[in-house]
Amino acid sequence: MATLRQQIATNVLTVTRFRDLLRKVRAYRPDDDLAPIKKAYEFSLEHHKGQARESGEPYLVHPLQVATLLAEMRLDTTAITAGLLHDAVEDTSVTIDEINTEFGEQVAHIVEGVTKISKIDFASSEEAQAENVRKMVLAMMDDIRVVLIKLADRLHNMRTLKFLSPERQQKIARETLDIYAPIAHRLGMGKIRGELEDLAFQYVDPISYNQVKDAIESRRKEGEAFLAEVQGTIEQKLRENKIQARVEARIKRFYSIWQKLQRQRISVDQIYDMLALRIITQSESDCYAVLGIIHNQWRPVPGRIKDFIAIPRNNFYKSLHTTVISEKGHAFEVQIRTEEMHKMAEEGIAAHWKYKDGPVSARDEQRLAWLRQVVEWQRDIKNSGEFLATLKIDLYPEEVYTFTPKGKIVILPRDATPVDFAYTVHTEVGHTCIGAKVNGRIVALRYKLRSGDIIEILTQPGHHPSRDWLQFAKSQRARQKIKHWLNVHQRERAIEIGRKLIEKEARKYRIAMKTISDTELMRVSSENGLAKPDDLLAAIGYGKFSARSILARLVPPDEAHTVSGQNPPPEDGGSNGLTSVVRRVFGSDTSAIKVKDHDDLLVYRARCCNPIRGEEIEGYVTRGKGVAVHSRSCSNVVNLMFEPERRIAVEWGRDAATPNWQAGYPVKLAVYCDNRPGMLKQIATVISDANTNIRNIEAKTAEDQATVEIIADIADLKHLDRIVTGVRKIPGVRDVRRLQKL
Ligand code: MN
Repeated sequence: MATLRQQIATNVLTVTRFRDLLRKVRAYRPDDDLAPIKKAYEFSLEHHKGQARESGEPYLVHPLQVATLLAEMRLDTTAITAGLLHDAVEDTSVTIDEINTEFGEQVAHIVEGVTKISKIDFASSEEAQAENVRKMVLAMMDDIRVVLIKLADRLHNMRTLKFLSPERQQKIARETLDIYAPIAHRLGMGKIRGELEDLAFQYVDPISYNQVKDAIESRRKEGEAFLAEVQGTIEQKLRENKIQARVEARIKRFYSIWQKLQRQRISVDQIYDMLALRIITQSESDCYAVLGIIHNQWRPVPGRIKDFIAIPRNNFYKSLHTTVISEKGHAFEVQIRTEEMHKMAEEGIAAHWKYKDGPVSARDEQRLAWLRQVVEWQRDIKNSGEFLATLKIDLYPEEVYTFTPKGKIVILPRDATPVDFAYTVHTEVGHTCIGAKVNGRIVALRYKLRSGDIIEILTQPGHHPSRDWLQFAKSQRARQKIKHWLNVHQRERAIEIGRKLIEKEARKYRIAMKTISDTELMRVSSENGLAKPDDLLAAIGYGKFSARSILARLVPPDEAHTVSGQNPPPEDGGSNGLTSVVRRVFGSDTSAIKVKDHDDLLVYRARCCNPIRGEEIEGYVTRGKGVAVHSRSCSNVVNLMFEPERRIAVEWGRDAATPNWQAGYPVKLAVYCDNRPGMLKQIATVISDANTNIRNIEAKTAEDQATVEIIADIADLKHLDRIVTGVRKIPGVRDVRRLQKL
C-alpha cells in the first residue's frame, strides 16, 4: 500500500508530466478535442495505481513518456490515447474489450497490436532469424501507429535500462539492436534509430563501446576545436554572401562509427572520419551557392562531390555532399540541404537507407517510395487523423510469418495453409497431417494462415496426402511433396492392378503365374523398352498394354497355343474379366451415370471428387479402365483434360432408371463446431430428419473445439444443400464442408 505521502508525490509528478503532454499536443493540434487523452490518462492512473517501475518511479511515468514521444512525432489524438494505454492490457487486469468500450475500436485495435508484439519472445529467435522477425513484426503491424508506439515504448525503455538486472539489460538491448533499430532504420527514422543503437551498443558490447568512446573522447577536444573553427569560417562566409543558413557540427554516433570501422577493417586508432558538418539552407538555390562558397574556401577532393538534389537517390534522399581538405590537411565531409530535405532525412523515410544496407530489390524500392509518400502526405495534411485512420501498412504482402509451438518462425507464401506449414516442418508430418490447431483452435486444412499465428499440426500414422490438397497448398515444397507421393502411390496401385489383370488372365488359361520365371518377365520388359518387371506390370495397370498380349509373350512356346487356341475374351472395356477386376479395384457404383451415345461403356465415379447427382460432371476415357467421371470442379479435371480427345460427354441418368438412387452416394462432411454436450446428437438429428442414412460419424475434440466427420448417403446436390444448411443453423456450428474424398 502506498502511503498518502507517496501518493501525493506520484500525483504531483504525473500531473506535471501530463500537463506537459497536453501542452505539446495542443501546440500542433489546437482544434482537437483532447478529452480522450484526458480520459486515457485517468484510466491509466486508476489501473496502474500502486505499480512502480524498476527505477522506483510510479509506473504511469512510462506511458506518459511514450505519449510525449508520440506528441513529439506530432501524431494524432488516437495515437496519443493508445500510447497512454499501451501497457494497460499487458500489465493490468484491463481487457481489449474494455478499451474498446471506453475508447472505441481504433484505439483498441492499436493497443491490441502493440500488446501482440510485446508477447513475442524474440530471445528464442536465432540471430539468422532477425531479418525474418523484423519482416514479421512489420507484417503484423497493420497500422503505422502500432509501429510508432512500439518504437517510442522501446526508446523510453532503453533510456531507463540501467535500472534493470544485467540479464534483462542484455536481452532488451540485443533485441533493440536486432529488431527495433533496423525497423526504425527501414522506416527512415534516422534520429530514433541512432539513439536506440547507441543506447543498446553499450549494453551489448561494452568493450567495443568503451574503445570507441575512449578513442573519440581522446580526440574530442581537438575535434571540437577544429569543428568550431570551421563552423565559424562558414558562418562568416554565409553572412558575407547574405545567405541565411544554419550550420550543424557534430561528432558522429558511436555505433555508426564502430560499424564503419568494422566494415573498413580499421582499428579504433585510425578514426578520423568522426567529424561531420551540415549546412541547412532556406532554398534549393542557396544549396548550390553554399557549395560554391565551400569550394572557394577549401580544396574539394575530386570525385567526392555528389549532387543528390539534381539526381535524388532512389529513396528520394536529397542533399549535396562534398569532401574538402582543411588548411591543416584534414579531410571532412559537408552535407548541404534545405530544411525540408533535412527533416525527411531525420524523421521521414530512409535517407541513408540504401547505401548502408546494400542493394535492395525493386520491390523494396517501391515500398519505400510508397511509405515515403505516406509520410509526405501526412506532413501536408494538417489534420492527419482521418488519413492515418485509413492507412494500412502491408510491407511484405507476399509472405506470412507463422510460429511453431516452440517459437520457431516459419515463413510461408501468402494464403498458405496448415498443409504448407506441415510440409515445411517435415515431409512425414505433411504426409500424415490430418488437421491443425491455430492459436489453440482447430481449423480446416484449407484455413489461410496469418502472420503471428501459432500452428500445431495434428498427425495420424498411416494417414496419406490427398489430391485435394493441391487445390489449396501454396508452397512449392508442399506441392512437390504431395505430387511426388501421389505419383509413387499411383504407380503402386497401377502395379497392383497390372498384376491382378495378368493373374486373372493367366487363371483363365490355367497357367500358374509362378511357372513364369523372372527371366521371362525381364525379357518381355526389356523388349518393351522397360527397365524392370514392375514397370511392365505398371504399364498393364495403366492400360498401356493388354494383359493378354503380354501373357501370350510370357508363356513358354508349348503352352502358347493354349492361349491362342481357346476362345479369347474381347479385350479392354466391356470385357467381363477386365470389368470385374476394375470394379473390384475402383469400387464402382455408377448405373446412374450415362455416357452419351455409349451405353456399353464402363463408367465409374472418380474417387478424388466422388461426384453426386446434380453436380456438373466430366467424363474422361482412361486407358483400359473405362470412363472416369469427375466433378467439373475437381482439380484433376484440369490436369486430365490435357488430352481433349479423351473427353467424353456424360450425364446423370433419369431417376427412375437408376435403382441405386434410393441409396444415394456416400458423402463425407466435416462439421467444425464448439465442443459442448449434445452437439453430436443435434447434428445427427438434423441429418437423419432429412431422410438420410448415416454410415459413420466421428468426432475429434480439442478443448472447446470439435470436428465432427460424418459419412451419409446423399441422393443429390439439393439433398446435400438441405443438410448443410440445416447443420449450419445449429448454434455453435462454425462451418460445414464437404470433403471430396471419403
Ligand atoms: Mn511499455
